Amino acid sequence: MSANSEVRVKEPLIFELSSPGRTAYSLPELDVPAEPLDRLIPENMLRREDPPLPEVSEVDVVRHFVRLSQLNHGVDTGFYPLGSCTMKYSPKVNEDMSRLAGFAALHPYQPEEMVQGALELMYETGEYLKEIAGLPHVTLQPAAGAHGEITGLMLIRAYHRARGEKRNKMLIPDSAHGTNPASAVMAGFATVEVPSDENGDVDTAALAEILDDEVAGLMLTNPSTLGLYDVNIDKIAKMVHDAGGLLYYDGANANAIMGWSRPGDMGFDIVHFNLHKTFSAPHGGGGPGSGPIAVTEDLAPHLPVPLVQKDGETYVLNYDAPESIGPVLSFYGNFGVVVKAYAYIRSLGPEGLKAVSENAVLNANYLMEALKEHYYLTFDRTCMHEFVLSGRNLKREHGVSTLDVAKALLDHGMHPPTIYFPLIIDEALMIEPTETESKQSLDTFIRVMTEIAREAAENPDALHEAPTTTPVRRLDEVTASRRPVVRWRPGDEENA
Ligand SMILES: *Cc1c(COP(=O)(O)O)cnc(C)c1O
Repeated sequence: MSANSEVRVKEPLIFELSSPGRTAYSLPELDVPAEPLDRLIPENMLRREDPPLPEVSEVDVVRHFVRLSQLNHGVDTGFYPLGSCTMKYSPKVNEDMSRLAGFAALHPYQPEEMVQGALELMYETGEYLKEIAGLPHVTLQPAAGAHGEITGLMLIRAYHRARGEKRNKMLIPDSAHGTNPASAVMAGFATVEVPSDENGDVDTAALAEILDDEVAGLMLTNPSTLGLYDVNIDKIAKMVHDAGGLLYYDGANANAIMGWSRPGDMGFDIVHFNLHKTFSAPHGGGGPGSGPIAVTEDLAPHLPVPLVQKDGETYVLNYDAPESIGPVLSFYGNFGVVVKAYAYIRSLGPEGLKAVSENAVLNANYLMEALKEHYYLTFDRTCMHEFVLSGRNLKREHGVSTLDVAKALLDHGMHPPTIYFPLIIDEALMIEPTETESKQSLDTFIRVMTEIAREAAENPDALHEAPTTTPVRRLDEVTASRRPVVRWRPGDEENA
């Protein structure tokens, strides 16, 4: 929240509720000699003064945190069609499974024979992901989608180097997710943009021009961030392979394809999954996540260590991989997230996973067909799990921007879609309803979006004012991200 945000409902700060001597607990009198603090903590690290903490009762503390939790919108409170981010509902049973003491209380230094169950769970999850990817090897180590990307790119680098080739260009379509070029640059590649054609697919003529013996690979999201399945994928894969490059699949949005088509069959050499989008770990707020990658036989020798392997009936952590790029995270990744994914995959089964994708795609097409009457649809063809509208008609005709539309949705208790991305669509609204929404909630969204389009024509000023019902109104987003004020200090009131 930035310093200049306008707070509508003035709730007392917890510091203002403070009353000297008030506590939220009661403990019995100490009946043993007190240990002098400086025997427990080095003298130079001891505080000189007590910290200025509020002194409040238990109910004050509970109300404070519950109120804070209600200031934000979450998928547990309402519709959250944030394109590319897959904010679907994650069943709580998967949380319960990851908190079982047998998983949650493990220590990574426990000997392998004591953690056979955990290793088996990781091994089995890897087997499922291999099957979904259509690729023969996997690592669960990366901690996020972008981390999977950079790991995959390091594998591409290791692969070319092992063959004595110097290839330094990474091709990335103009519709790509922003993490793709960022990861490529971090992995030391020079990025080359590939344009989209008039259907929203990769422009294969332009690709043919760009391909040469310096190309290390192509990073592709299929379906793309436009929610479109590239119909030329076989041709693209052949072109890149013939030029000596490898194909990287950004599988963050596997919700679109699970059980229906496999990146390995499309010709991809590497795929990352976002367990925290597709496989039921809640996300947002920075983690923890998990971005496993699956790879071909050719890339397997370079995978990070340790590898979870099966030796007869025993599960082992194998560190013995001389061509490995080395570990990319401590130990074997974010195990708790893997447990949730395992529970999710096992509870749905193969048919259930297929149904997830079927419904994700059906829901997106249902919304797209209803909304294209009111918002401009650049690529009018069947979409996958998401689609991108343009608010350019509202902007041109009524001076109402996509930002106004997004803010108006907040007044209806809905999270806005992703806006102004992908960059190639003017006034973009990227909508992903996910499979966990009912027809009723989709119909409500259609009604609200239709109402907003009507209001744009009849009373555009009201939309410039939105939101009016949220705890804070329009934030100065630049200041909020460059100079975030996330902490209250005594005197802040006067300075505000
Ligand atoms: C979310 C996303 C990523 C990045 O995943 P993180 O876990 O946030 O690093 C990459 N590509 C696409 C298409 C995504 O939607």
